[in-house]
Amino acid sequence: MSRIIDGKAIAAQIKDELKKEVAQMGDRGITVGLAVIQVGDDPASTIYVNNKKKACEYIGIHSVSYELAGDVSQQELLALIDKLNHDEKVNGILVQLPLPEHIDEEKVITAICPDKDVDGFHTENVGRLTVGKDGFLPCTPAGIIQMIKRSGFSIEGKECVVIGRSNIVGKPMAALLLRENGTVTVAHSKTEKLKEVASRADILIAALGKPKFITADYVKEGALVIDVGIHRMQNQKMCGDVDFENIYGKAAAITPVPGGVGPMTIAMLMCNCVKAARR
Ligand code: NAD
Repeated sequence: MSRIIDGKAIAAQIKDELKKEVAQMGDRGITVGLAVIQVGDDPASTIYVNNKKKACEYIGIHSVSYELAGDVSQQELLALIDKLNHDEKVNGILVQLPLPEHIDEEKVITAICPDKDVDGFHTENVGRLTVGKDGFLPCTPAGIIQMIKRSGFSIEGKECVVIGRSNIVGKPMAALLLRENGTVTVAHSKTEKLKEVASRADILIAALGKPKFITADYVKEGALVIDVGIHRMQNQKMCGDVDFENIYGKAAAITPVPGGVGPMTIAMLMCNCVKAARR
C-alpha cells in the first residue's frame, strides 16, 4: 500500500491560514489586491483563472480581472501592466500563460514589477531564488515543498531526482530542493539511462509532461513520488505523468492527479499575494 498525499486537504489548510491572516490585515485597514490578466479565451486558461478567482474570494483577496481580446497588441498589454505596477491597490499581478504567439512572453513577464510578480517568473525573483535571497517563489515548486514538509517527509540529505527542466517547474524545483539540503539531480529529454537515474531517488518529482510515463521500473521501493503532470485523457478523465496504478504499492507515498500538486499551486499563489501585501 502506498500513502496517497491529499494535496487538496493541505491546500485547504493553507487557504484557511491565509483567510485568518487577511482578516487580521483587514482589521488594520490593509487590503490584499490581485490583478488577473487573461489574453484570449483559451478554455484551459479560463478554468485556471476562474479557480484562482474563487480562491481569492474564499480568502478575502480583492481580485480584479482584465479579459483582453486574443488579438490585443503587445503594446496595449504592456501599457496595462505599467498602469497596474503603479496602482497602490494592486499588490500582485498575474498574467495567465501561455500568451498568443504575437506576444513576447519574456517581455511581458519582465514588465511586471518584481515586487508584484506573484507568479515568481521575473528574472529578478529567479535570481533571488538561485542565490538564496527572499523573493517570490514560483507557485508549483513552492507548493510541492510545502506538500512534502506538511506530510511529514524530510528533504535534507535525501536523493532527489527532478525529471523536467522547464523554467516554471523543473529548474526552480531543483533550486528549492537544494535550498532544503536535498542532493539533487535534474533529468531531462537528453538524459541517458533515465530509469537508472530515476530509481536512485528517495524523492522523485515527475514534471516531464508525458501522460503515465513513469512506471514502477523508474521508482525505488519506498520512494516519495510527486506527480506534476496534468493531462486530460480521451475519456475526459485526468491523469498525470505517473502511472498511478502501476507504481501503487511500490512507492511509500504518491500524489494523485487530480487532487495533488494542482490545488497546492493555487494555494501558493494566494500565499504570494498575501506576502506582497504584507511587505
Ligand atoms: P515543459 O514541456 O515546459 O517541460 C517538460 C520537461 O520535461 C522538459 O525540460 C524536457 O526536457 C523534459 N522531458 C520531456 N520528455 C522527456 C522524457 N521522455 N524524458 C525525460 N525528460 C523529458 O513542461 P512544464 O511546463 O514543466 O510542465 C510539465 C507538466 O506539468 C505538464 O504536464 C504540465 O501540464 C504540468 N504542470 C502542472 C502544474 C500544476 O499546477 N499541477 C503546473 C505547471 C505544469
